[in-house]
Amino acid sequence: MSENQAKTNAMQQCSCQCGHVQFEVVGAPRLRMLCHCTICQQFNQASHADILVYKSKNIKTPSDEFVTFKTYKAPPNVQRGSCVKCGQAAIEVFNFPLMPKLTMVPQGMFADGADLPVPAAHMFYEKRVADVDDDLPKHNGFLKSQLAFFKFLWFKR
Ligand SMILES: [Zn+2]
Ligand SMILES: [Zn+2]
Repeated sequence: MSENQAKTNAMQQCSCQCGHVQFEVVGAPRLRMLCHCTICQQFNQASHADILVYKSKNIKTPSDEFVTFKTYKAPPNVQRGSCVKCGQAAIEVFNFPLMPKLTMVPQGMFADGADLPVPAAHMFYEKRVADVDDDLPKHNGFLKSQLAFFKFLWFKR
C-alpha cells in the first residue's frame, strides 16, 4: 500500500468539547476552507468558520439524540447541527442538486494535532469581522465564493 492510500483510508475521531457528540470520519477531506459568512459566524460563535468538507458517505452522521439540526435561512440548503448538551457546532450537511452529498465538520471537532490539510481559501471574505493577514485566496460575495467552492471540489485530484 502506498503512503497516499494509507492516508486516504485513515480514520479520525471527532468529538465536541463536552464529549456528547462523537463520530468518525474516514479518509481525507475534499477541501478545507475558512468561511466568513454571517451564518457561519452565528453557528460557530466565532469570527469565521474553519470547515473540512467530506463526501457524506465518509461520515456517520450522529442521530438527533446527540445533535439538533437547524436550517438557517438563505441558500444553499445546509442543515447545521450542534451538540444538544454544549451547543458546539458539530456537523453540517449540504444538499446541492446534481452534487454529491457533502458533510462539513468544523475544525474544532478534531483532536489537537489531527492530520488536516491547510485551508485552501477564504470564502465570503467581505463579511469578515476582521482582516486576515495571510496568503490564501480571498473570495467575496455569494457567487464568487460558491464558484470557488465548486471549483475546488471538481478539479481537486
Ligand atoms: Zn459560511
Ligand atoms: Zn457537546
